[in-house]
Amino acid sequence: MITQEQIANAVCEIYKEAAIILPTDVKNALKNAYDVEESDIAKLNIKSILDNIDIAEEKGIPMCQDTGLPIIFVKLGKVEVENLQEGIIEGVKKATQTVPLRTNVVDPLTRKNTGNNIGKSIPQINVELSDKPELELTVFPKGFGSENNNKLAMLLPGEGIDGIKKFFKEAIISAGGKPCPPTVIGVGIGGSSDMVMKLAKKALLRPVGDKNEDKRLANLEDELLTIANDTGIGPMGLGGKTTTLGVNIELADTHTAGLPVGVCVQCWAARHASITLKDE
Ligand code: SF4
Repeated sequence: MITQEQIANAVCEIYKEAAIILPTDVKNALKNAYDVEESDIAKLNIKSILDNIDIAEEKGIPMCQDTGLPIIFVKLGKVEVENLQEGIIEGVKKATQTVPLRTNVVDPLTRKNTGNNIGKSIPQINVELSDKPELELTVFPKGFGSENNNKLAMLLPGEGIDGIKKFFKEAIISAGGKPCPPTVIGVGIGGSSDMVMKLAKKALLRPVGDKNEDKRLANLEDELLTIANDTGIGPMGLGGKTTTLGVNIELADTHTAGLPVGVCVQCWAARHASITLKDE
C-alpha cells in the first residue's frame, strides 16, 4: 500500500522542486527566445529572467515571490492508496514550512489568510483514473498574475476555427504584459464550460514545443503561437518578438449546440513537477 506518509513526503519533495527548478523545456524555450529577440529591452528582460532562474537554483530558493495556488494533478492507477487527500494536504503544509512557500490562500470574501496554503477545497486536487499499477502526482503551483487573465468563451458552433482564433487573439491582447510574458498558453476546446477550463490548464502540463499527436491541433497550435507573437507585446509587455513560448491544446468532444473554448495563461514561471509512486 502507498501510505499517507509516502504521499505527504512525495508532495513536499515535488513542491520544492517545482518552486525552485523550472522544467528544462521552458528554460530552453527562454534561451531560444533570447537568441531570437533583437531589441535591447526584450533581450534584457529575458536575460533577467534567465539570471533569476539560475540564482533560484543555485541558492535553492523559489524563482518567484508568488509561489502560487496549490493545484495537484493525480493519476490514480490500480494501486492501494492510504488517505490520498490527507497525504496531499500534509505535503502542501510541509512544503509551505520547509521550502518555504508564501502563504497565498485566503477566504475569498473576508480575504483572511489561512496561513498554511490549505483552505476550503484547496489544494485543488484533480483526479484522473489510470490502468497503470502506480500513483502519479504532479504539483502545479499557479501564480495569479497569469491566472487572472484566463478566459472562457461559449462560442456558437458556426464560429468554428476562425472564432477560436479571434477569441484567442482577444485574450492575448487583453492580457498584455500583466501575466509576466513570455507566457505559455493552454487552450481547451470542447467539453462543457467547466471541463474546457480544466482542459486548458491540463494542456500546460505538456512540454513547451511538444508536437500535438493530433495533426489538426498541431497545426492550430502553430497558428495560435504566431497570432500571439505577432501582437508584439513581448517579454514583460515591453515589446518584442516573444510574447508566448508555446501554445498547447487539449480537446474533448462537445454538445452539438456549442463550441466551448478556454484559454489558460501561464507566466514564464511555468512550474510543475511530478513523481510516480508504486505499491512495493
Ligand atoms: S505571474 Fe508568474 S512570474 Fe509573474 S509574479 Fe505571478 S507567479 Fe511570478
